Amino acid sequence: MSESPKVGFVSLGCPKALVDSERILTQLRTDGYEISPTYEDAGLVVVNTCGFIDSAVAESLDAIGEAMDANGKVIVTGCLGVKAEEIQAEFPAVLAVTGPQAYEEVVGAVHQHLPNQQAHNPFLELVPPQGIKLTPRHYAYLKISEGCNHRCSFCIIPSMRGNLVSRPVGDVLEEAERLVAAGVRELLVISQDTSAYGVDVKYRTGFWKGRPVKTRMQALCEALGSLGVWVRLHYVYPYPHVDHIIPLMSEGNIVPYLDIPFQHASLPVLKRMKRPAATENTLKRIAHWREQCPELTIRSTFIVGFPGETDAEFQELLDFLDEAQLDRVGCFEYSEVEGAAANALPDPVPDEVKHERFHAFMEKQAAISQQRLAQKVGKTLQVLVDAIDDGEAIARSQADAPEIDGLVYIEDGGSLPVGEFVNVRITEALEHDLVAVTL
Ligand code: SF4
Repeated sequence: MSESPKVGFVSLGCPKALVDSERILTQLRTDGYEISPTYEDAGLVVVNTCGFIDSAVAESLDAIGEAMDANGKVIVTGCLGVKAEEIQAEFPAVLAVTGPQAYEEVVGAVHQHLPNQQAHNPFLELVPPQGIKLTPRHYAYLKISEGCNHRCSFCIIPSMRGNLVSRPVGDVLEEAERLVAAGVRELLVISQDTSAYGVDVKYRTGFWKGRPVKTRMQALCEALGSLGVWVRLHYVYPYPHVDHIIPLMSEGNIVPYLDIPFQHASLPVLKRMKRPAATENTLKRIAHWREQCPELTIRSTFIVGFPGETDAEFQELLDFLDEAQLDRVGCFEYSEVEGAAANALPDPVPDEVKHERFHAFMEKQAAISQQRLAQKVGKTLQVLVDAIDDGEAIARSQADAPEIDGLVYIEDGGSLPVGEFVNVRITEALEHDLVAVTL
């Protein structure tokens, strides 16, 4: 099993510094780092310091000294970081010094000094391959578990990261609460299989704010839905129990958006892929969800050219696209991943056939996505402002996950506050994005 790089973390100071620490740890976990409880096992140590009073300064300097002695690779952040020269004078070998609320720089420094060698691979990554371009402060990925109990034949995650280990539900909810307190307006729930949350601990009851909460997707969603921010679910499989989440979406507790990596539609291909929920009647399920929640956005990814994929099986996939009318879709041509069981499957699909299928797939889906987007013209939507550029606001609607989906350009939104919600009227649909004006 290839090891994830480990980061040691020392957090000193006030609740504000704790929020910073939480933000840094969340991002590091999302980027595939593990947090080490000891200096010795860590590839480097981050010390989040306090510089409020002299005793706090002394404590921070002690902590830096201890980490330098025990580990030798240290990044300093937090309030004392504003006195970078003093720190560097005392500890010339520290790797980097940043100030408070500088979590982007800290995480950037970790990436630089302890690169995560696990290559960006569409089959392995949970978050978009954004390198060290970090998420803006108003949205955050919330990782709810590690590893996976499935054994999809094209995937090596279980051999790299082991079986499913769900994080305690109380920890996840506390982290979510702190992120919201720090200004996060959108939580992106990620894991290898979000619908399997809690299976490993038999849906054990945990506690949050003194109340019992089950370690289960539905209970987690209900609790997250009470935080008053957008909650978006990624990597959900079409199991029957997902039906229980849909009312939370239609009632506005969580964002009506499901990211379901279907990967294929033909049963024999899904079986060769050893996909979870392969035998579910997906089309029926989607129709049922849309009946309950018409505004539901479904995003998915597919693989074309999987070993043994026949013309008829590929046609089944195209027919599925017609029927399913998915909103957002990504597609990969199948390629071998070192160590994956699928490498031993017979009948590889020739590259030129893979390309042809990819283009046929994309052409069909582009028309569907565009048509679905066009239906939004004239509607009023709530959007979250991500940035201001050249006099207009760049925002996203509930149908758009950051980095992977579309954008909403608000033509008269140059003075809107970044990181806040605003209602807009959609005036035009482009190929992937929408144009809007403020109300
Ligand atoms: S569900 Fe399948 S593809 Fe996803 S991580 Fe688990 S084994 Fe890999």
